[in-house]
Amino acid sequence: MPSAKCLAAQHAQPSPKLPPEVYLQAVDQADLAISITDLAANILFANESFTRVTGYTPGEVVGNNESMLSNRTTPREIYQSMWTALMEQRPWSGKLLNRKKSGQLYLAELTISPVVDAAGKTTHYLGMHRDITEFHRLEQMVRNQKALIESVVDAAPIAIALLDQKGRVLLDNQAYKKLVTDLRVAEPAHTLLDSVLGTWRTQLSDDIVTCVFENREARVDHRNGRPRWLSVTTSMIQIHSDSADNYFASSDQPGLLLVISDVTSLRAEQERARTAALQAAMAEEERTAALREGLSAAIFRLEEPMNVMASAVSILQRRDPSSADLLKHALSAGREHMESLRLVIPPSAPEMVFSVNLNELLRDVLEVCTPRLLRAGVVVDWHPAATLPPLLGRPLQLRMLFKALVDNAIEAMDTKGWKRRELTLATSVVRNCMVVTVTDSGPGIPAELRHRAFEPFFSAKTGASRHLGTGLSRAQQIVSDHGGIIDLDESPGGGCHVVVEFRLDGDPI
Ligand code: FAD
Repeated sequence: MPSAKCLAAQHAQPSPKLPPEVYLQAVDQADLAISITDLAANILFANESFTRVTGYTPGEVVGNNESMLSNRTTPREIYQSMWTALMEQRPWSGKLLNRKKSGQLYLAELTISPVVDAAGKTTHYLGMHRDITEFHRLEQMVRNQKALIESVVDAAPIAIALLDQKGRVLLDNQAYKKLVTDLRVAEPAHTLLDSVLGTWRTQLSDDIVTCVFENREARVDHRNGRPRWLSVTTSMIQIHSDSADNYFASSDQPGLLLVISDVTSLRAEQERARTAALQAAMAEEERTAALREGLSAAIFRLEEPMNVMASAVSILQRRDPSSADLLKHALSAGREHMESLRLVIPPSAPEMVFSVNLNELLRDVLEVCTPRLLRAGVVVDWHPAATLPPLLGRPLQLRMLFKALVDNAIEAMDTKGWKRRELTLATSVVRNCMVVTVTDSGPGIPAELRHRAFEPFFSAKTGASRHLGTGLSRAQQIVSDHGGIIDLDESPGGGCHVVVEFRLDGDPI
């Protein structure tokens, strides 16, 4: 909009090549309702578009005040700001509610410029307006729809987040914002994608279509809380650029829309049933293992007197052949019985390799051990990594491994008069390893015995509480079957600190 002074300057030097009637024709035929008034807003001139917009012919408006167009509902302050600007020789723009000759109301977008003479005095006002009723209706419609969509999206019980190709969240809803506090993570979308699609970052920037999937469930664990199960579905949408630079160039950017629903209660039901089945399977496996180990230990211990008998036979052979023969018979009968005993040792059933989540597995173990932990008054501190990559392994074997470690810890602390009974379980990813630690506040294993703890049939306990001592050797076997390592150390509180490490790229044997 040219300033009043600029207009005056132009009038002072009319273009020599442009005849004056061209000015009049241009104003008259312009596609904008134009009127020129005196200083009291009395109309002196109105162009053809003015008639088209208002319905009044120039004959009907000339001599009348512009207020004839007013619907008398435009707030007083608007006119006041209009006149204040005009009195200060400033142009004014705004929206007014006008009435046409037909009585129909319309929203006018009006610009008034003071016309200033060479002496700097305002002589007239130039008014230009257009009917923006339809534009306003469409604008309101878009605004209403946006508000409606926003309130529906915000009221939805599902969390929604839209990511650009760099993984930045462009849009989210209330349920998503709540996830930030509930899960205690900076960006739930990233945490969930980490869990269900490990390589999402490169896929998102290189080939976003490969990030589209339906109903993948992610488990999010946090300290001492119950896990949350979230089902994630993604879809690709085009984000249209609203920058003027891209008006003629198509620069649509694909975005990834995440729809996240909480399926925790459903999973909790399934989990309860699964835990019961698991409990039964583990109890069965424990019974069989105890039988296997009991028989193996019996054979192992019988070997010793048999060897003594075998040496006695060779000593007696020359001195007392008949006693030697008797002993030989007894020895071979004993060996036969031992062989029959060996045959009845139940073999361990082969187990398939699956992709397992260690957090989930440890939760199962804690669930199964809960009655025993409660009975022993042990307080459990559970520190899971928020998400863990999957591990290829034998789930039952791994559960037995961690159950053995938890059982050992309970047993160490569950002694008369022992006050501090704390068990800390933690998972983490350190470099290219998944690390599980089981720490108790029991008496620990003396340093001189620690290196022997993994030997078969070794037990640090004596007397009535002494048992077979195959737990840690079996645990070590399971860990090495999974390409991992297990180590024993002393916890800062003096208890036992067991560290189990699995390589992220390690395949079980
Ligand atoms: P008014 O009595 O006219 O005045 C309302 C307020 O404006 C008062 O506070 C008064 O002090 C101040 N005011 C009025 N006239 C003057 C003046 N000459 N100098 C200083 N202050 C003044 N109005 C519309 O509703 N629709 C239009 O399309 C429209 N187009 C206009 C185009 C031009 C070029 C101009 C100059 C004005 C236009 N107006 C328009 C404004 C119109 O002239 C009236 O001021 C307005 O309609 C209010 O009228 P009113 O009778 O309710 O109140």
